[in-house]
Amino acid sequence: MLIIQNKCLSMSKLTIMNIFSFTANFDSEESCRFHFKEERDKQVVVCHRCGHTEHYWIKSRWSYECKNCNSRTSLRSGTIMQSSKLSFLVWYKTMFLLSATKKGFSSKEIQRQLGLKRYEPVWAMVHKLRKAMGKREDRYTLEGMIEMDEGYFTIEASEHAHQTQKAGRGSKTKSNVMFMAESTILEDVETGIIERQSRYFKAKVLDDHKADGTDEMLQKSIDDEQTIVFTDKSTSYINIADYVELHITEKSNEQTTKETLKWVHIAISNAKRNFTGTYHKIKRKYLQLYLNEFVYKLNRRYFGNRIFDRLVIASITGL
Ligand SMILES: [Zn+2]
Repeated sequence: MLIIQNKCLSMSKLTIMNIFSFTANFDSEESCRFHFKEERDKQVVVCHRCGHTEHYWIKSRWSYECKNCNSRTSLRSGTIMQSSKLSFLVWYKTMFLLSATKKGFSSKEIQRQLGLKRYEPVWAMVHKLRKAMGKREDRYTLEGMIEMDEGYFTIEASEHAHQTQKAGRGSKTKSNVMFMAESTILEDVETGIIERQSRYFKAKVLDDHKADGTDEMLQKSIDDEQTIVFTDKSTSYINIADYVELHITEKSNEQTTKETLKWVHIAISNAKRNFTGTYHKIKRKYLQLYLNEFVYKLNRRYFGNRIFDRLVIASITGL
C-alpha cells in the first residue's frame, strides 16, 4: 500500500516520505476502514455463531452478515480491535508509528503524538499490537545453526528489592531472557574469511525454572532435528542435546562473544539499548510484550514500508 518513491533516499528522507505516503493513503476514518476491510477480506471471516465463512457485506453498518444464519459480525469483531473504542484512524496512526522506526514508541509518547486525552486505552491498544506481533512470530521456527544465550534485563522493582538484591544473575531487579539467533557460517571463496550471518531471532522471558523454560522454547522454536545449537557452558542448557542433532558448548570468553555467539549477543545488547532509550521502566509481566515488538521488527528489518501492511494483517489475525 505504501510506496517507497526512491530507494536511494537517506533514512531521514525515507521517513519523511513514509509520513507523506501514509497521510496520502489514510487521510480519514473511512479510508482506514476500507483498507482494513480489504485486508480482512483476504483472510477468512468466520461467523461467530455457526462457523460459516461466506458473508454479505452491509456497507451502512460496516458489518458482515452470515449467508447461513444471518448473524452479523462487525468489521472490528474477531480482530484485536474488537473491544476498543478508539477509531480505525487512531489504530492506523499507531501502527504507522510503531512500524516507522526501529526504536519504537512508548504508549505515553503515542498518546502525546496523537493528542489523545486518556492514557489507558492507548496503553491497551499498544500492548494488543505487541501481543499480535508475538503471535505472528510464534508461527515461524528457526532452522540450521542456532546461537542461544541469556540476557539479563533490568525491570521495574520496588525500592526494597533494589536495596537488598545483588546485581546481575538472580537479582529481582533483573529478568532472564533467552535469545536465539539463526547463524549461518559463510566462507568467502576468494579470501577464505569465515563470517556468520543471521536472518531470524527469537526472545523469551524465562521464569525461575530456567532449564524448563529453555527446553520449552527449543521445542516451540525448531521443528527440524538437524539443528545445531551453540551455547556457552551454562547449566540452563543441559537438556538441549535431547532436542537437536548437535549441541556445541564453548567456554564464555571474548572470542565466543565475537564469533560463536556473535548475533545473539548483538541482539541482546540492541534490545537492552532500545528499551533503556525508549521506555521509562518495564514491569516483569510486560517484558515479553516489549520483546515481541523488538523481535518482530528485527526479523522484518529488510521489509521497509511493508512492515506497516504486515502489522495490519497481524492486527486482523492476532486476537
Ligand atoms: Zn452464521
